[in-house]
Amino acid sequence: MNATLLKIIVVTALGLFAAGISAAEKPYVVFLGTGAADIHAPDGCHCPNCTYIREHGQRNRRRYSSLYVDPGLVIDFTTTGMAGLQAARIAPAEVKCLLITHSHGDHFDAPAIVQLAEERAKKTPGPLPVFGNATVTAALKKHLASLKRSVPLAPAEVTAYRDFAAGGWTCTPMLANHDPSQQCLFYVLTKGELGVLYATDTTWFPVKTFYAIARKKLDLAIVEGTFGPQTDPSYLIGHMTFAFDRLVRKWLMDSKTLKPGGTFAVTHLSLHWVPPYDLVVEPLGKEGIVVSYDGLKLPIGK
Ligand SMILES: [Zn+2]
Ligand SMILES: [Zn+2]
Ligand SMILES: [Zn+2]
Repeated sequence: MNATLLKIIVVTALGLFAAGISAAEKPYVVFLGTGAADIHAPDGCHCPNCTYIREHGQRNRRRYSSLYVDPGLVIDFTTTGMAGLQAARIAPAEVKCLLITHSHGDHFDAPAIVQLAEERAKKTPGPLPVFGNATVTAALKKHLASLKRSVPLAPAEVTAYRDFAAGGWTCTPMLANHDPSQQCLFYVLTKGELGVLYATDTTWFPVKTFYAIARKKLDLAIVEGTFGPQTDPSYLIGHMTFAFDRLVRKWLMDSKTLKPGGTFAVTHLSLHWVPPYDLVVEPLGKEGIVVSYDGLKLPIGK
């Protein structure tokens, strides 16, 4: 074999090896669910949105909002969580930790979390850590105490703006603007150069949260758009509309908090109040807004 041919073989092999490594190492998110609290609305409502969803199904249907962040972190887990994992072909044993935003039933369900922890324990030793605010951890502990068995689950209370490590990420809980009866949180996850924002449930962020987010560099920003195109101010009490999403996106881009070429996506979409996926994906796409659907996988970083 001559030297040139050998060189080509070695360089090609190294290239393939490097490509394999980078593909394996590249983190991603999978939307396990993208709906708001009204995921069952299409079962009984005859408005145009719900009727379309009922008739067309597919990406127009939505489970309760939940996000899988590779490798093994899940944000929010409720009654549709297992179906979300199953559809994404993620085994319970792969889940390393849960982060909960707040105690509302479309984000947190103690029996569903217990089921996940017990399924996971069949193959993965040790308790499943569940991070959440004081309301969430108290509710989880109360549910565990009511069971007549020990569950491999470890509730851990977290507080706004205090970083903690989980699932291979540094997690910064941000104070949300959602329900005054508890400290509702959302999360920024960072690892090396990579950053992900997952902001649900919240309306326009508290000032301190804007400052805290501005200290991060994001590859992917996922923000709730519960009431979509609605314009009445009553829809902005506790949640966002597309008008707010556009402003948040502009702020993230103008402040360079979202890296150039970074991705902005909306989730936690009401099935009744937001036109179905098929009808919003294109117009919002033209504005640079990705409309999420259950099962959507997005890379973190280029
Ligand atoms: Zn919600
Ligand atoms: Zn809520
Ligand atoms: Zn409806």
